[in-house]
Amino acid sequence: MPELLNQIRAQLDALQEQKLLRKRRIVEGPQGPLLTVDGRQYLAFCNNDYLGLANHPALHAAAQSGLEQYGVGASASALISGHTSVVEELEQALAEFVGMPRALHFSTGYMANMGTIPALVGVGDVVFSDRLNHACLIDGARLSGAQFRIYPHNDVARLEQLLAKSNSPRKLVVTDAVFSMDGDIAPLPELLALCEKYDAWLLVDDAHGFGVLGPQGRGSVAHFGLKSERILYMGTLGKAAGVAGAFVAGDATLIEWLLQRARTYIFTTASPPLLASALLAAVKLMQEEDWRQQHLQQLIARLRNGVASLPWPLLPSTTAVQAMIVQDNQLALDLMEGLRQQGIWVPAIRPPTVPKDTARLRISLSAAHSNEQVDQLISALHALAKQHAEADSRSMARNG
Ligand code: PMP
Repeated sequence: MPELLNQIRAQLDALQEQKLLRKRRIVEGPQGPLLTVDGRQYLAFCNNDYLGLANHPALHAAAQSGLEQYGVGASASALISGHTSVVEELEQALAEFVGMPRALHFSTGYMANMGTIPALVGVGDVVFSDRLNHACLIDGARLSGAQFRIYPHNDVARLEQLLAKSNSPRKLVVTDAVFSMDGDIAPLPELLALCEKYDAWLLVDDAHGFGVLGPQGRGSVAHFGLKSERILYMGTLGKAAGVAGAFVAGDATLIEWLLQRARTYIFTTASPPLLASALLAAVKLMQEEDWRQQHLQQLIARLRNGVASLPWPLLPSTTAVQAMIVQDNQLALDLMEGLRQQGIWVPAIRPPTVPKDTARLRISLSAAHSNEQVDQLISALHALAKQHAEADSRSMARNG
């Protein structure tokens, strides 16, 4: 066997041994609170369909009419002949919705960040990044060739020290607005104030805030009521908006520059226009009906109250991402399996996705969940805590 294959086989074996080997499951049918995984139906708290739009009839109908109007594929990159009128309309609707002058549509959030950061900064510049930022902000910063400075999670004072020390020509602060594995919200007003003080730019990745936070789900920048030419706002469209894709919104000059220079925008086939048709329907629903955000907030409070007495604390979060910290990798897997046996799907998240000793259950809530479904999860977690306490006291009795 070639040496490279031997080495990789050994690395896979090591992952298996450390219980870090990731496995995919086969899902049938549409996403929703009830999910068929490997042939069995579960009550699911695992996806990012925060408003329950992924399977909404209005989006289905819009996608179908988009299919009839535009066919399946865009067949070219946007700058050649793939920029359809429906995407133009979507960009305008998104810019208006988040309260920014202009927006540019990307195929995914990952590509949006990977294209935006290197278009803004390069060798000799500095990117300042929260320690818990998403992989695509980190990869985008690395790709840019700029120096990369990490500040401790949400530590505005430390960020200020780093900014004050830097005399590079361009400084860019990048942050998740809602941290994807913790669910907490970045202190955007303080970050913006620092950017203004130290002449830096602020890239806000609102993958988990767009559609959830702010009036009608207009996102985290609207949630804080911020307005500034220094903000570039990245929203993803595969989570609360229920479809796929992303957009970057901001000052019209910056957006024009991205159109000219973001390589992940320029050198890729535009995404299928029918997705933009569905997304226009999603934005319209968000604008017209905000009961989904309200129901989601009510479910968040219900879950947090319901599990407050468990031995595993939830991290502070007012968003759809609720992280129950159990620390131990094996315990996280055991709890996931215990829930699975009760017909509930909640993913266990372990290092390296999260820092060592912070393995957790990542509970994703959606406006599509009912109160009863959240109560079912709460009862199942209490039953597992009881079993866990009984097993602990049996082993203490044996050892003592
Ligand atoms: N940013 C954050 C914070 C995310 O959680 C994700 C997706 N998990 C992305 C960006 C990437 O977005 P997309 O899935 O559209 O590529």
